[in-house]
Amino acid sequence: MQRRLFLGSMLGAAASGTPLARAIAAAAATPISGDLPATRLGGGETVLSRAAVREFRASLRGPLLLPGEDGYDRARQVWNGMIDRRPALIARCSGPADVVSSVEFARSNDLLVAVRSGGHSTSGQSVCDGGLMIDLSAMRGVRVDPRAKRAWVAGGSLLGDLDRESQFFGLATTAGTVSHTGAAGLTLGGGFGRLGRRLGLACDNLASIDVATADGKVLRASSNENRDLFWGMRGGGGNFGIATAFEYRLHDIGTTVLGGPIIYPFSKVREVLDFYVEFAQTIPDELNVDCAIVAPPGGKPAVILEVCYAGDPAVGEKLIQPIRSFSKPLVDQVKLMPYLKLQSGGDEANGPGRNYYIKSGFVHDVDPALFDTMVNGFTPDPGRATVMLLQQLGGAIRQVRPDATAFPHRNAQFDLLVLGGWDDRTQNDYHRTWIRSFWSEMEPYTRGYYFNTQIGDSQAQVRANFGDNYSRLVKLKDRYDPGNLFRLNANVLPSSSASSASSG
Ligand SMILES: Cc1cc2nc3c(=O)[nH]c(=O)nc-3n(C[C@H](O)[C@H](O)[C@H](O)COP(=O)(O)OP(=O)(O)OC[C@H]3O[C@@H](n4cnc5c(N)ncnc54)[C@H](O)[C@@H]3O)c2cc1C
Repeated sequence: MQRRLFLGSMLGAAASGTPLARAIAAAAATPISGDLPATRLGGGETVLSRAAVREFRASLRGPLLLPGEDGYDRARQVWNGMIDRRPALIARCSGPADVVSSVEFARSNDLLVAVRSGGHSTSGQSVCDGGLMIDLSAMRGVRVDPRAKRAWVAGGSLLGDLDRESQFFGLATTAGTVSHTGAAGLTLGGGFGRLGRRLGLACDNLASIDVATADGKVLRASSNENRDLFWGMRGGGGNFGIATAFEYRLHDIGTTVLGGPIIYPFSKVREVLDFYVEFAQTIPDELNVDCAIVAPPGGKPAVILEVCYAGDPAVGEKLIQPIRSFSKPLVDQVKLMPYLKLQSGGDEANGPGRNYYIKSGFVHDVDPALFDTMVNGFTPDPGRATVMLLQQLGGAIRQVRPDATAFPHRNAQFDLLVLGGWDDRTQNDYHRTWIRSFWSEMEPYTRGYYFNTQIGDSQAQVRANFGDNYSRLVKLKDRYDPGNLFRLNANVLPSSSASSASSG
């Protein structure tokens, strides 16, 4: 209950704007000539002098955008159109040196900090009201060494950048299912994708990360250097610093996969779900099958099994034969196709700017009553795209121990999501209320949740969701970010804040 209230008030504030956000919006109506109101790290207001802002701007190679300036409104937009926040300053970093200057400016002025790469945080953690938005989205670039099977990826790159350059050499690593998602946020929180059962999470495929820390250093974290930081950055999100570059291990998968959707009418939903859950347990790690129940706005609902087999097509055809024969589909679009095409096939349907709301949780053992709840509660709406997704996990994800990286949810079978997307902002409350209420019926069948789709609404929840890894994460936080500069995330509290929070 508390969790829902918190989220509701957070999103409400985003929609209506805090007093400070309104002051910043008002300031935008006139050219910036005076001092700049801003939000302190711990909340409350501060004022930045014009001279300090000018000096900061001069220290950057990329542009520093203030309210009212060209590009400011575009730069503060993130994927979820429901998020409408106004940072006091947006540093559009051109490289790690700009990131460090921004970190130092924020620290010395005690500013709230948001870190943005792909901007796909559904709850809008990458943009803040009144603080400094450290924006890496201009830092895109991928270099692949096909012999070493490595990709070096700049911190603001999108998954499509990584896939495209890797596929040029017939290589790939696990990346998410929508190509305009940021590599940074996805990888730091874990990273599921169509190749995950075969190759592990995106974070399992990291060889090293360059991290700009709160004290203004850039550290290399890998299994040889700063090993504790490397452990924490793989699943611990942006808690310990800003990732300015990633080094991924790549794998030979070729450029073609057997993939695509098989679509069934909604009348067969229960039959499909029952088949799916049995089938999913029998298939090898090379095959990934996700199951979605979808209802486009005003359209007919349907059930989709989406296949991706990266291996010998003849073997793949045999493996998916049961899907083709258990029931007659409406459409069967599974065929040999470029992996890149499969990876970008959902880009438009999940495009930026619409209002979105998501709830999710991990399913470990499927209780048939969950399917009853899913089927009975699924309610299409003419004004909303309604999606319920079972993203298949297991395989190589499960082969890694829960304490080997900061990502603990290794044994889940599926990530279950309910997602709504709509255009009419006046209906935000209505759609959110439906999703929350529907989710409250399904949540009891889940255990733990994915920080990349919801950060958690209380400290107790964050702690519980990191499980046994939490105490080690607190030690890391104490070491790398004792002032909790990086807090807009699934926040691990440093011991100093945790003890003052518990004594307060
Ligand atoms: C359409 C869509 C599809 C998705 N599909 C998948 C999927 O298939 N698999 C999956 O696992 N997840 C998926 N996700 C969830 C996705 O992993 C998260 O939304 C992720 O946070 C996106 O990363 P980003 O860089 O775009 O986000 P941002 O909004 O830029 O950042 C998200 C969080 O990461 C932090 N952060 C961002 N960049 C850095 C950095 N360089 N260093 C340190 N911290 C940083 C931010 O501060 C914020 O807390 C999807 C999300 C969307 C919206």
